[in-house]
Amino acid sequence: MPRDPRHDVLFEPVQIGPRTLRNRFYQVPHCTGFGTGKPLSQARHRGVKAEGGWAAVCTEYAAVSPDSDEAPFAHVRIWDDDDIPLIRPTAEAAHAHGALAGIELFHGGVHGHNADSRLPPLAPSQIAGDYNGQVPKAMTQSDIRRVQTEWVRAAERSRDAGFDIVYAYGGHTYLLGQFLSPYYNQRSDAYGGSFLNRARFWLELLEMLDDAVGEDCAIAARLAIAAGGADAGVSLDEGLEFVRLADRHVDLWDVNISSISEWSRDSGVSRFFKAGWQLEWTGEVRRATAKPIVGVGRLTDADQMAAIIRSGVWDLIGAARPSIADPYLPRKIEEGRLDEIRECIGCNMCVVKGDGNGHLGCTQNATAGEEYRRGWHPERFAPAANRTKDVLVVGAGPAGMECAIVLARRGFGRVHLATRDTEIGGIMRWVPRLPGLGEWGRVLDWRRIQLEKLRRQVEIVTATDLDAAAVRDYGAEIVVVATGAQWSPVGLNGITRGPILGADARLAHCLTPEQVMLDGKRPPGSRVVVYDCEGWYAGAGMAELLRAERCEVTILTPHERVAHETDAALEGPMLRQHLHDLGIRLRPGRTVTTVAPEGVSGTDEFGVPFELACDAVILTTQRVSDGALFAALDDEPGTLEAVYAVGDCVAPRVIADAIFDGHRLAREIDAADPARPLPWRRERAALA
Ligand code: SF4
Repeated sequence: MPRDPRHDVLFEPVQIGPRTLRNRFYQVPHCTGFGTGKPLSQARHRGVKAEGGWAAVCTEYAAVSPDSDEAPFAHVRIWDDDDIPLIRPTAEAAHAHGALAGIELFHGGVHGHNADSRLPPLAPSQIAGDYNGQVPKAMTQSDIRRVQTEWVRAAERSRDAGFDIVYAYGGHTYLLGQFLSPYYNQRSDAYGGSFLNRARFWLELLEMLDDAVGEDCAIAARLAIAAGGADAGVSLDEGLEFVRLADRHVDLWDVNISSISEWSRDSGVSRFFKAGWQLEWTGEVRRATAKPIVGVGRLTDADQMAAIIRSGVWDLIGAARPSIADPYLPRKIEEGRLDEIRECIGCNMCVVKGDGNGHLGCTQNATAGEEYRRGWHPERFAPAANRTKDVLVVGAGPAGMECAIVLARRGFGRVHLATRDTEIGGIMRWVPRLPGLGEWGRVLDWRRIQLEKLRRQVEIVTATDLDAAAVRDYGAEIVVVATGAQWSPVGLNGITRGPILGADARLAHCLTPEQVMLDGKRPPGSRVVVYDCEGWYAGAGMAELLRAERCEVTILTPHERVAHETDAALEGPMLRQHLHDLGIRLRPGRTVTTVAPEGVSGTDEFGVPFELACDAVILTTQRVSDGALFAALDDEPGTLEAVYAVGDCVAPRVIADAIFDGHRLAREIDAADPARPLPWRRERAALA
């Protein structure tokens, strides 16, 4: 398909200081869990995006000094010359595909964890951090000069490593933002007090960077613009005034919203933030500068992107999550392949997995983070040695669909995707219908479209319940079981390590999410308890859904907070506020031990018994694998050459892991033992 001419504007080059971006797609800095601890994962991940058409790819936060040590969180370090070899591969990977390489030079200030360096965090003033509670050292003027000098040295090292864009990163109220903010900065010397004094540290740094590397590198500044008020004390007017003051030393303004304690508003989940939500604030920056501006907002729609550029508020479309979900997003727009774009669903599983010391993962894109260590490419698939075989995939949920697609792309010509349901999708038939989770439907939409494109290779068989004998007789040589999982109908849970006395989803007053969402079962009365031991989206979703149907809803959970697992996805506090505002009662620290038609009973966190009258209980205690078919086939495969299990029927996990599981098996189905993952490359520190 030729490119839609309306999108031509997205492919115009943009000059940023001494460098030129080939188009308007800019991968802003984002965490991965790689840092300089996994330098080759870092390089390959960014390199694939460069290949996919991004004009620039940036590292995550790169600490300029040992007193900005983010350990235990994975980050880039550029403390001395020995770090240069660890970052050079990323610059080279970007250049190999025509992209510029950016490095997010930063100092965390009071937010520094320093778990490795054991140095005290530094800050403009000695006020405990709002993020980690640490009391910092108030910086002396010699500290100020030293950090500025170390920043410049880090920029020079970055240039020497091949980077084209160096940051003076002040977003997330890191040190530069702390100096600007009267909340953090309560100094009475030349670096505190008046706005000009508070801006001095950052302005001096920009001038030093300009002098040192300005002829070779574009200098980018990230500034968090006030969102809905004075964010960390920096009002919109002061933010814009800073842009005017600093403009002559800045080649690219990278603008976002919120402080570190409000990261959830920057990387907003789709439940609360629709694509482009940041424009309301970041769009204001144009009033203060004619220099290129990049902004973000989980943009995946080419029409919306083009409209933003035409409006003149931004010059570049920034992306973190959309670039993870589809590293080839720019190329697909350029080639008119819009229906192949794997759109980010705004679930923040990438944050859950990539933040901390984990490893990047993505719900939509199983290859994210696996580019180096498993050698997976999001768009390329090696022909399988056994691709002449027939493969039957039983179960068409996330794992089964993904497995079938990858098998087809690996050259299998006869893949059969069978489900007992009347349509494909498995769990994704109902999860996106929970309030606020509509964008999650993209998981199914993208796979449905790709399966349609692959219809010559993949036959979809619906409304067909295959037992073990039917599978053996089907005619396929290889069988992949992907039969998923169900919510426990008896309230099995990891708190009491057993079912709940009296819980039985065959009774009118006990319901599982599937019964509500797929079977249309409803509580026999209006007083409903949602008992949520899992803490992800299902319990909260059930509660909101039934509240919308005018039920009086109480969420009981044995954990310290309702929906506690969503905290890691930057959603928890907002979600609890939202549920509270809807009139849903939130009762943490309650373990339910008995369910009866007239109510539930159990103990609170101190062991004190409680009773709560209600008409029905929604059981979101835990899911249980539907593993019977695999067990039967594993016991008695008959003439089948191989039988594998993937996804939730092995163990119920988050959607991202189910999809990964199906993808992994299909990638390795011609290995010696596909049931076990091939060893992946680990980046072990060399013992010289
Ligand atoms: Fe988007 Fe979710 Fe993937 Fe993150 S994990 S990039 S939010 S789809």
